[in-house]
Amino acid sequence: MTKYKLEYIWLDGYTPVPSLRGKTQLKEFDSYPTLEQLPLWGFDGSSTMQAEGHSSDCVLKPVAVFPDAARVNGALVMCEVMMPDGKTPHPSNKRATILDDSGAWFGFEQEYFFYKDGRPLGFPASGYPAPQGPYYTGVGYKNVGDIARKLVEEHLDLCLAAGINHEGINAEVAKGQWEFQIFGKGSKTAADQMWMARYLMMRNCEKYGVDIEWHCKPLGDTDWNGSGMHTNFSTTYMREVGGKEYFESLMKAFETNIEEHIAVYGPDNHMRLTGKHETAPWNKFSYGVADRGASIRVPHSFVNNGYKGYLEDRRPNSMGDPYAIASQILKTIAEVPLAKAAAA
Ligand code: ADP
Ligand code: MN
Ligand code: MN
Ligand code: MN
Repeated sequence: MTKYKLEYIWLDGYTPVPSLRGKTQLKEFDSYPTLEQLPLWGFDGSSTMQAEGHSSDCVLKPVAVFPDAARVNGALVMCEVMMPDGKTPHPSNKRATILDDSGAWFGFEQEYFFYKDGRPLGFPASGYPAPQGPYYTGVGYKNVGDIARKLVEEHLDLCLAAGINHEGINAEVAKGQWEFQIFGKGSKTAADQMWMARYLMMRNCEKYGVDIEWHCKPLGDTDWNGSGMHTNFSTTYMREVGGKEYFESLMKAFETNIEEHIAVYGPDNHMRLTGKHETAPWNKFSYGVADRGASIRVPHSFVNNGYKGYLEDRRPNSMGDPYAIASQILKTIAEVPLAKAAAA
């Protein structure tokens, strides 16, 4: 028997977006535990905005398990929060009720800032560094500093060891700003991995005295880019059938549902989606081929393949909840009828 360190991780009840929480329990197993072997657990919901003090127990239900390379015999256990009966999803538990479809693929491009001493990593104590230009995909100490790359590399290795589909890294447009990409099949699988990747990033940065600023516009109305979480998506139908007519109906549905999308695309998005800094204004839907100033960017490959493939919704922001984002995209897609020939 081996004692495993099980980090149960869940989303709290803070609004407009939840924060990550986690606590450890030790349990003995013959070998590395499977999801089915992991027991329900509980926590004090009165400390996480999920219960009143007089009846504070909430239940943690494991839904995905990832190896934890930072610990000997460690496991990261993604959980849903349940009511005390262990069966009813807690109102804060979005994951339990979202649309899912294993044929729906999602690629999230998570942008974020490293922060130290209340400002982006590499910013001087007062004023600003040299303006944006050399930082995006940049190299060299004056562009990326001396520890950022170490942090993103360590994060990459932690994600790979956890079995997370990490797809890439790049330094971003603002100093101290970076991006990583996570891909998954099915909204729950993709979003579980995204939340776990966020968790690993935050936890790994603790020892460097560095925080992650997930806000979409931490530097406000300045000439410094905000942070998005572009969401690339495709369904089986989009990849295999597609067509111009279907694509245009899809875009019409996205336009009609603009409010529903913006509502779950992350807080304060009006600060970021201004029409400047490679964004489209939040209240005006648009799409365009290879257009990074549109709400939805249509890759060249999509058009070249007969309107088949994936699309990029550029509106979701860095702080958005990937469960809610993916679910809303699937909801809108579900409103669009498929061509008769294909449906038959
Ligand atoms: P860019 O920065 O040019 O917008 P990235 O390379 O950062 O693009 O991100 C593109 C994302 O698209 C990747 O995360 C990738 O996983 C995702 N992607 C690629 N093909 C598909 C697909 N068929 N369905 C959904 N997402 C996809
Ligand atoms: Mn990208
Ligand atoms: Mn980017
Ligand atoms: Mn993108």
